[in-house]
Amino acid sequence: MALKPCFECKGVVSTEANSCPHCGASNPTRSGLRPAWVEKLITVVLLVGWPLFIIAFLIQVSHNPNGFYH
Ligand SMILES: [Zn+2]
Repeated sequence: MALKPCFECKGVVSTEANSCPHCGASNPTRSGLRPAWVEKLITVVLLVGWPLFIIAFLIQVSHNPNGFYH
């Protein structure tokens, strides 16, 4: 049994703890994973970014029915 900093709140947590006693994060001492806020950012970018990209592409096509960038 060892103590490590929580990846989320940096509080000291046992490596055997399933959740952080300070902030409640699950598997608080797991390593090699991105912080939770990065995961959220990526999720938001994927959810919001792709639809915007597709909409922009469709607008581009509708404004240029004979082809792209002509
Ligand atoms: Zn924590």
